[in-house]
Amino acid sequence: MPINIAIIGSGPAGFYTADALTRACKGCHIDIIERLPTPFGLVRAGVAPDHQTTKRIVKKFEKTALLDEVNYYGNVTIGNCVSLAELRELYDAVVLAVGAPNDRKLTIPGADKIGVHGSAAFVGWYNGHPDYQDLRPDLNVGTAAVIGVGNVALDIARVLVCSAERMAGSDLPDYASCAIQGSPIYDVHLFGRRGPIEAKFTNVELREMGKLNCCVPLAKAEQIPGDDDPVLAALSDRDRRLSERNLKTLRTFSVNRPDEKSKRVHFEFCATPVEVLGGDRVEALRFERTQVTDGRAEGTGDFFEVDCGLVVAAIGYRSDPIVGAPYEGDRGIIPNDDGRVAEGLYTVGWIKRGPTGVISSNRYDGEVVADYIHKDFGNLPKSDKAGRKGLESLFNARGIRYVTYADWKQLETMEIENATGVAPRRKFVTIEEMLEALDKSAPSREFA
Ligand SMILES: Cc1cc2nc3c(=O)[nH]c(=O)nc-3n(C[C@H](O)[C@H](O)[C@H](O)COP(=O)(O)OP(=O)(O)OC[C@H]3O[C@@H](n4cnc5c(N)ncnc54)[C@H](O)[C@@H]3O)c2cc1C
Repeated sequence: MPINIAIIGSGPAGFYTADALTRACKGCHIDIIERLPTPFGLVRAGVAPDHQTTKRIVKKFEKTALLDEVNYYGNVTIGNCVSLAELRELYDAVVLAVGAPNDRKLTIPGADKIGVHGSAAFVGWYNGHPDYQDLRPDLNVGTAAVIGVGNVALDIARVLVCSAERMAGSDLPDYASCAIQGSPIYDVHLFGRRGPIEAKFTNVELREMGKLNCCVPLAKAEQIPGDDDPVLAALSDRDRRLSERNLKTLRTFSVNRPDEKSKRVHFEFCATPVEVLGGDRVEALRFERTQVTDGRAEGTGDFFEVDCGLVVAAIGYRSDPIVGAPYEGDRGIIPNDDGRVAEGLYTVGWIKRGPTGVISSNRYDGEVVADYIHKDFGNLPKSDKAGRKGLESLFNARGIRYVTYADWKQLETMEIENATGVAPRRKFVTIEEMLEALDKSAPSREFA
């Protein structure tokens, strides 16, 4: 009997782990269990809708999903439909790859006003994530503020100012497209607590902001350090090169004129938000000017306000605790020793490391854990675990309707068929409509 491995979560970390396991533990059975009917985690629901080339990584994940030894069970939430303890009874090894789906909250006074959103919710909304499709942010405002100076903040700013032509080739859901294209937002301000050297943008994404046909990026020359800044000199070669590229790009933004194009994205560094102002709704943000000392932002006692009717805080993500697994509340991760959590329990991706890095950063996690699983179980003469047979009996006994990879492919075909113009797909955005569409397309399928 081959060893049985369950991976919880079908994002990049889950798929890279499955792929590595097919090589490290030949012949093992791998079951990927996913909360949503749709696979691929943040590749579908986080990566910006106009970055379709980035989303092509799913073709690689699909090759893994279609292998004989790999099964996909979508629409199954661990901790709700099945407990982690039950999975550990059924499988030799369980890998937690559930990501970090929640926002790190903005905790300043007024952060609960209408019009203040976290980036997980806002990005989920414009990406058609079933949890957030009914967020309905009010975009009927002139100015938006995005707090954060990483790629997520850039994505949000870009999506808010992108032209209809550019977005035509995206998979932005209709409701988001109508709200964004109908919005009078002409100014988006991006705020960073620290300076441009500490900003987390990658240069390709930053430069992209300068190539939009209806929006001009603006930066303040006096906020951009010179290449002889001692802080740069103290960085590693790699980090210094990355920062220098960003500074160069920001310098080009500093000579742009605000009236060059119809919309503007303003970069403002060394500004920490201290209060959301307004009545029930946000009307402005109050900031304290900071100075950066030893990489830390310290308040200077100077304050200023910026009017805005929408605030999106892109200040990081956190994972949920999972019953049956340890949890490190401060960092919002599962404490682990290089991916090992307990006997037969492992973790990978953002729930393991925290919310940093790009899609491919998760590959290493999968390889490490696959090696550990091979070491821990590779010499097992035979597995006495029920594995997928046991899991499916449990689903049947509980009337749990799971979605297979073949079902997902049917949904995907319908999404592609439903697209108009050059859009790559028209996403299903609720779980109900996904299941209903599957019912209609395969009425004979029985769910016990
Ligand atoms: C807004 C945004 C944009 C990004 N854009 C890019 C980009 O352009 N390029 C790039 O390289 N990287 C990008 N990243 C980073 C990249 O998306 C992450 O590195 C990667 O998705 C993390 O993978 P993961 O598998 O750990 O988590 P996730 O991708 O979040 O996958 C976790 C999966 O687990 C499932 N799950 C959660 N709880 C349960 C449960 N209880 N039971 C079953 N399943 C569960 C979730 O539904 C999800 O499918 C972006 C990230 C964000 C937030």
